[in-house]
Amino acid sequence: MQHHIIAIALLALSLVGCSDSTEKSVVGQPVENSLPKTPRNIIFMVGDGMGLTQITAGMYSNGNQLFLEKMKHIGFIKTHSGDNLITDSAAGATAFSCGVKSYNKAIGVDMDTLPVETILETVKKKGMRTGLVATATITHATPACFYAHQPSRYMHHEIALDMLTGDVDWFVGGGKSFFENRADGRNLSDELRSMGYTIGYTLDDLKADMDKVGILAADTELTTISGGRGNFLIKSTELAMEGLNKGNQGFFLMVEGSQIDWGGHANDSQYIIDEMIDFDKTIGKVLEFAQKDSNTLVVITADHETGGYAINGGNLQDKTINGAFTTGHHTGTMVPVFAYGPGAEAFMGIYENTAIYDKMMALLGLK
Ligand code: MG
Ligand code: ZN
Repeated sequence: MQHHIIAIALLALSLVGCSDSTEKSVVGQPVENSLPKTPRNIIFMVGDGMGLTQITAGMYSNGNQLFLEKMKHIGFIKTHSGDNLITDSAAGATAFSCGVKSYNKAIGVDMDTLPVETILETVKKKGMRTGLVATATITHATPACFYAHQPSRYMHHEIALDMLTGDVDWFVGGGKSFFENRADGRNLSDELRSMGYTIGYTLDDLKADMDKVGILAADTELTTISGGRGNFLIKSTELAMEGLNKGNQGFFLMVEGSQIDWGGHANDSQYIIDEMIDFDKTIGKVLEFAQKDSNTLVVITADHETGGYAINGGNLQDKTINGAFTTGHHTGTMVPVFAYGPGAEAFMGIYENTAIYDKMMALLGLK
């Protein structure tokens, strides 16, 4: 009997030992436990319409290299929406921002059009700072899903109104007309100014020491790379990281390479390649920041693939590819997820797009 009690006590002790924060490596030295570390900052990057072929086309056209290749924790997501095998960008971003599968066109609402709190809204409540950077309008489906709750992505004027909640500390993109040239006669830029925002129209108006700022750099979407957009995405992302990191409160920043998708819809390989390389250069800057900071989790993915894009030939020396397309719309193929920094290993495997939200929330200790 006594032997049993001792055995149970020893078993209990060994179980306690298992939950210790260190474990023995094979050579008997204690190693740091493998529980994922909580990141202070999350930079979530969406290449809209960025499937494997878009990445590959960008890579071969860029001398067979991308910054993306630095990322070692890789997974795949299933992109289907709540009402369609083929998602749109609204349902895709709602999956990322709210963790729910909703219908195509949904902006931060569930299948019943009821608002769902977004990760950006949750982290803001916890005292973190928040930012959105896009080359589309800031009211476009992907960025909108992080701060707005509307039944349809096409309600740009209503989506712009949702910016007045003040949950987004920094936003950079296009869409000035939806804030300043409105049917209701309101000037939302002035209203945001009265709330303490600096509202500007070029990146020159952006300073890292700003607390709350919005840059509306075009009436509607920004122009393309070939149309002269230059390093807008790279520069605005760098400024956002520097600015949001001031004060060390932790931040959540969403960066969208919006127009990779538009190259796919246009069945235009060169458009895709230019936008992909621009997005990748931005990734390079983000990884540089994350490496230096060491408390920043970087997650890069796509909402869906666009174009049914394929590479049917090309020449590595000439940096050319022969692209072909099966459609002018989105496709249902899985898209990759790349992660770097504390918690990156959680993004390996194959899972639903909604799990991106679950994983980010869990790593922040919010779910
Ligand atoms: Mg988008
Ligand atoms: Zn699209």
